[in-house]
Amino acid sequence: MNKRSNKFIFITGGVVSSIGKGLAAASIGALLEARGLKVTNIKLDPYINVDPGTMSPFQHGEVFVTDDGAETDLDLGHYERFTSAQMAQANNLTSGRIYDAVITKERQGKYLGATIQVIPHITNEIKERVLEVASTVDVAVLEIGGTVGDIESLPFLEAVRQMRSEHGPQNTVSIHVTLIPYIAAAEELKTKPTQHSVKELLSLGIQPEILLCRVDRELPKSLRQKIAHFTNVPVEAVIAATDVSCIYELPIKLQEEGLDRLIVDRLNIWSRQPDLSKWHKTVKRLLTPSQGQVSVALVGKYVHLRDSYKSLHEALIHGGLENDVAVQLNYVDSEELENIENVESKLDKFDAILVPGGFGERGLEGKIRAIKYARENRVPFFGICLGMHMAVIEYARHVCLIADANTAEVCCPSEHHVIDLLPEQRNIRDKGATMRLGAYPCVLAPDSLGARIYETTAISERHRHRFEFANEYREQLEKAGMVFCGISPDKQLVEMIEIPNHPYFLACQFHPEFKSKPHKPHPLFVHFIRAAKAQADRRSQAQTDGATAVNCSIN
Ligand code: GLN
Repeated sequence: MNKRSNKFIFITGGVVSSIGKGLAAASIGALLEARGLKVTNIKLDPYINVDPGTMSPFQHGEVFVTDDGAETDLDLGHYERFTSAQMAQANNLTSGRIYDAVITKERQGKYLGATIQVIPHITNEIKERVLEVASTVDVAVLEIGGTVGDIESLPFLEAVRQMRSEHGPQNTVSIHVTLIPYIAAAEELKTKPTQHSVKELLSLGIQPEILLCRVDRELPKSLRQKIAHFTNVPVEAVIAATDVSCIYELPIKLQEEGLDRLIVDRLNIWSRQPDLSKWHKTVKRLLTPSQGQVSVALVGKYVHLRDSYKSLHEALIHGGLENDVAVQLNYVDSEELENIENVESKLDKFDAILVPGGFGERGLEGKIRAIKYARENRVPFFGICLGMHMAVIEYARHVCLIADANTAEVCCPSEHHVIDLLPEQRNIRDKGATMRLGAYPCVLAPDSLGARIYETTAISERHRHRFEFANEYREQLEKAGMVFCGISPDKQLVEMIEIPNHPYFLACQFHPEFKSKPHKPHPLFVHFIRAAKAQADRRSQAQTDGATAVNCSIN
């Protein structure tokens, strides 16, 4: 398609939250791209926060950071991983951001004395922003957060209703993701919640054209007909989205169900048949890796909330894909490492240790203990952001013998803040969008492990932090063996460190996990998993040698 023609796919959710709208939206983007179309995804989040940056990870899960420094919903991570679309601030609208913009304009007198109302001012603001993002692509896939029926989502759904009528049936399609629960006592799948949820959507003036039914088993034809009957959706557009063994199987499953065909037919788009060969290859490798398995410990604070480490989890899986190994991820609560006699009992079963990003004081000493264990026992280690801070503190304390080395992020008094506030952070009081955010360039030392991994010395990675390595300790740590292999172009900020003469000890100030994709795994994760595999091989060799020695002594 030459002319960008503003075609829109609206995705709503019904019955329960966490139903997989984000992955559905990402998969639809992938399917349309596989047909040669240019797509983008937009997430409309009904909450009042301006962005999720200030929300607790316990409530919201990961904050995904884009190149332009936006703190966004974790679904944008799915969008970037599933498609080649580059997400930015404009791809994540929240009620807070919309109201903030409208109120600012009102204060500036831009509405010329009008009474400001949800319709038309809020809905117009939503539509204008969506149109701007959509103007550069063939199809924009819009996901409306929350569940139909929520009070907060009403303005977004009203904007959707208006856009459907303004752009017409050939340019808009509404897909409702819903749940068909299986009631064990009755041994039956139940369609009633879906009927009610579609009714709710109809009451808002939106008749869905396609239903994506989340269901944990086969959805019989008779039930599809029943759902079709109650919802005015043609039976062939009642699609079963059965559970998949890995998320990258979803585009394949939805294509088999004919979802992309339905979409392009409705939108009157002429496109080629989708080429899903790369997805098939990825899924095959993921499900049947030929090189065995590695076991990685992720030592963090939010271990009971896997969503908090969404991109990290995926990036590690991608690293496994490239090495053709399965990655078994073990979440280890860093606080639990603080009070035990020896951390070895908790960590010796793992092939590698990763300390991810995080905030606040809790669990920090446990992370430092885990890093000390990895460094001294030559276990592959990878630290990310806070993980780099902890690696620096560990080295300062135990190698440079600066006993009270610490980060200024904790309140306990210390003479030696080897990690300190960034200078530009010192006078900032506001919490929202005030960290060092987004993509920054970094220069790698030519002969470093970092440069060998990236196969270049000029990189750009995404950041989200307030604290950094304190330069007055650079010389001392360098003399003691730490290598500052990644530095900002102006040489002021330490972005990556490594320890030579160790199988793999590397930590970075940025978050490489945000840029890893299943079809383009990030090199830092590829090499970390490679090091874990080498460690796994060493461990099993040592076990074989041990067993042989025991056998010999028995003989
Ligand atoms: N809390 C640390 C800081 O603000 C690290 C942040 C992170 O890990 N993303 O600098």
